[in-house]
Amino acid sequence: MLTEKLYYQDPYLVNFSTSIQKMNQDLEGKWYVVLNETAFYPTGGGQPHDKGVIGGYEVWNVEEVEGEIRHYLHLPLATTSEIVDCSIDWNRRFDHMQQHAGQHILSAAFEEIYGFRTTSFHLGNELCTIDLDIKQLENHEASRVEAYANEIIINNHPIQAKWVTEEEAKALPLRKALSVTDEIRLVIIPDFDYNGCGGTHPNSTGQVQAIKILEWEKQKNGIRITFVCGIRVLNQLQAKHDTISKMKPLLNAPEEKLLDAVTILKENAKSLEKELQATLDTILEVNAKQLIDDAELYKNETWKLVAESFEGKSMQDLQKLAKTMLAKTDEAMIVGLISIYEGKLQVVVGRTGDVSVSMKTWIQSILSEIDGKGGGNDTFAQGGGESSLQAIELLNRALVHLEKQLTY
Ligand SMILES: [Zn+2]
Repeated sequence: MLTEKLYYQDPYLVNFSTSIQKMNQDLEGKWYVVLNETAFYPTGGGQPHDKGVIGGYEVWNVEEVEGEIRHYLHLPLATTSEIVDCSIDWNRRFDHMQQHAGQHILSAAFEEIYGFRTTSFHLGNELCTIDLDIKQLENHEASRVEAYANEIIINNHPIQAKWVTEEEAKALPLRKALSVTDEIRLVIIPDFDYNGCGGTHPNSTGQVQAIKILEWEKQKNGIRITFVCGIRVLNQLQAKHDTISKMKPLLNAPEEKLLDAVTILKENAKSLEKELQATLDTILEVNAKQLIDDAELYKNETWKLVAESFEGKSMQDLQKLAKTMLAKTDEAMIVGLISIYEGKLQVVVGRTGDVSVSMKTWIQSILSEIDGKGGGNDTFAQGGGESSLQAIELLNRALVHLEKQLTY
C-alpha cells in the first residue's frame, strides 16, 4: 500500500498520528519505518527532507526509495503495533517552503524581465543558488529582478498546487519542460508562474517574506546566483551586522567609515612594505660590501674567494647576496654560499667574468655530497639537497672540491 502524502494535502500539517506499515533495515543496516500516511517530505526536487519525531524517536532522514517513503531512525522502534504520534520540525520545513517558493518567484522574475532561463536550483543549509543560462549579469539587472521579486511577495499572490493531465499541462504557459508525464503536479502563481514541481510551498507569496540576491559568479555553463529568502534574509543581516560590530572597534571607525579605514590601512601596509624592502636592500648591500672587504686572495693569488655558511637564509636570499657581491666587486672573485633553510641545504656559487673556473662543475661536486639537485652555467649555479651535513661541513667539502677542480 502506498503511503498517503499528507504534505501535499496540507503543507502546514505538523502533527499527525498514523500506524506503521513496516520497519526494516536498509542494505547499510540503517533502521527505517514506512507509515500509512506521512507529513514528512522526502528529499526530492531540490528540496531537502524533513526532520522530526515518530513515536518519540528522532527522524534524521527521509527518502523515497522504490515507491516507499522511508523515515530513518537511529534505533528501531520498541513497538510497531500501535498508532504512533508523529511531528515534523516545522522551523526546518517552513524555511524550505520559503526558499523553494522564493526560488520559483526569482526564476520567474528573471525570465519575465530579461528572458534569462534557470537551468538548476540548489537549496543549501544556509544559502540557495540558481544557475542562469547567460554569460554575464549586470548589477542593475540583478537589482531590478530582486525588486520585482519582492514586489510579487508584497502583493501576496496565492500559490496553488494542482494535479493535471499531460493535456491540461500543455495548455498552460509552463516555465520549463516537464520531467514526468503522469501525475503531473503544478505549482501556480496565477498570471505569473506555472511550474511542474513536487516540493512544498506556502499558500501565498507574502509568506516568502523577502528575497535577497547576495552575489553571483561565472560557472562553466552560465551564471550562478546565490540568494536567500524568508528568515534567512534576517539571519544574513544579523551575521553581517555581527561582523561589522566586531570590525568597528578594531578599525576605530563608525560603520559608514569602515571602507575608508580599510583603504587607509591597506595603503599604509603597502608603503611600510616598500620601506622595509628598501631597508633590507640596504642591509644586503652593506653585508655584501663587508664580505668583499673581508675576503682574502685565494692561494693561487689570482682571485678573491668569499666562502660563507649561514642559517635561515633562503635560496632567494643567497642568490641576491651572491649577485650583489659579484656586481659590486671590481676584483676577480669566486663566491660560494651555503645555508640551511627549512631543513634543507641551499647552495649558490658564482664568479666574476675574469675567472676561468666552471661553477657548473663545482656545484655538481658539492651537490653530490648531499644527494642534491641543481643547475646553472659556468658563471653562476645553484642547488639544494637534504641536510645530511652541517652547512659549515658542506662548505669545507666544497672548498676541497674547488681545489681538486683547479688541480686537474
Ligand atoms: Zn517548487
